[in-house]
Amino acid sequence: MNEEFEVTPYSVSGDIDYDELVERFGTKKIDDSLMERFARHGPIHPMLRRGIFYSHRDLDWILSEYEKGTGFTLYTGRGPSGPVHIGHTMPWMFAKYLQDTFKAKLWFQLTDDEKFMFYDHLSLEEAKKWAYDNALDIIALGFDPDLTNIFLDTEYIGTMYPTAVRAAKKINFSTIRAVFGFDNSNNIGSIFFTSIQTVPCFLESIAQGRNVPCLIPCGIDQDPHFRVTRDIAEGLGFYKPALVHAKLMPSLGGSEKMSTSTKMNDTIFMTDDEKTAKKKVMNAFTGGRVSVDEQRKEGGDPEICAVYQYNLYHFEPDDTKLAQLHADCKSGKILCGECKARLFEKIWKFLEHHQLEREKAKDKVNDFLIRD
Ligand code: SF4
Repeated sequence: MNEEFEVTPYSVSGDIDYDELVERFGTKKIDDSLMERFARHGPIHPMLRRGIFYSHRDLDWILSEYEKGTGFTLYTGRGPSGPVHIGHTMPWMFAKYLQDTFKAKLWFQLTDDEKFMFYDHLSLEEAKKWAYDNALDIIALGFDPDLTNIFLDTEYIGTMYPTAVRAAKKINFSTIRAVFGFDNSNNIGSIFFTSIQTVPCFLESIAQGRNVPCLIPCGIDQDPHFRVTRDIAEGLGFYKPALVHAKLMPSLGGSEKMSTSTKMNDTIFMTDDEKTAKKKVMNAFTGGRVSVDEQRKEGGDPEICAVYQYNLYHFEPDDTKLAQLHADCKSGKILCGECKARLFEKIWKFLEHHQLEREKAKDKVNDFLIRD
C-alpha cells in the first residue's frame, strides 16, 4: 500500500494512488455497465470516457431514480478565496453536462463563510467580493438560468440555518476531528462548517416539500465532507446524497493538484491575458528529454507531462487525436516546443471565449443569484 500520500478537503500531498483512494474512502469505481447506462441518455462526456470522473457513491441509484421519473438535483460549490483557475472549472463543466443531459436543477454554493473561517488573511468582505467575482466565471460556463441557483452562504443562511442546526446536532466533534484531522487549534466556526456544507444536498427537497435525490459532482478530495452528510441524511428524513468523483487536475508545474495557492505560474486563471497564459504554458513541466537529439531518439514521457495531462483532461476532446499525440510523443516525432505551442492555441481559444462570456455574465448575475 502506498501510504505516502494524503487527500483531505483541506490538504493534498504526495503522489496520489487513485485506486487506493477508492479503497481508503470506500467508494466504487465507475465501471463499463454504469458507462453503458449513461450512454442510454446521451453522449458520454470525455471526462467519463477517460476515467477522470472515475469513482462514485450511489450513481447507479441516481440513474435508476431518473429512469423511474423521480429525477434528481445537482449540487456543487466553490470556496471563494481568489480567482478561478482552469482546474476549478473541471467539475463545473461536468455539472453542466449533467444538467444538459438530465435537465437537472443545480444548486451552486459559494462558501464565503468557510473561506473566512479557514484563511487568517481573508476578511469576510474579501471572501464575499471573491464570491461575486467567481459567480461570473460560473455563469460564463453557460449554465441554464432556469435550472441554476447560485447562492452565498452568508446571503442564504436564513433558508439554510434550520437544517444546518438539525444536522449539527447529529455530528460529534470526534467525527469531525477524525474525518478532517482537526485539533484543538481549529476555530469553532470551521468545526461547525460541515453542517452548513450538508444543507445544499437537501435544498431541492426542502423547496419541493418532497424527497428529491441529489448528485454531487466534485473532486475526490471533497468526499469526506459528504461522508459525514451521508451518515446523518436519513436521520434528518432525506436521501443520502450520491457522488461522482474526479481525479485532481495536475498543475502546469507537474504537481498533483492545481490550487490557487500553488505557485501562480503553475496555474492558468480564467482571467489571464494572452501573454501571461502563453508564458505559463511555454514554461510548463513536460516529459521531454534534455536535448532534441535525445528526444528524437528516445521519445518523451506523456504520463508525467503536464502538457499531455492538460490535453487529456480537457483540451483535446477527440480521442483519436489524443492517441496520436501520445504516440507522437513516445516516438519522438513531436518535440515539446511545438506541443506546448499547440496546447497554448487551444487554451487561448477557450480563455478568449470565456472572458467574453464573463463580461456578458455581469448583466446576468440576478438571473442566477438567490438570496433570503
Ligand atoms: Fe509532453 Fe508534448 Fe513534450 Fe511529449 S512532446 S513530453 S506530450 S510536451
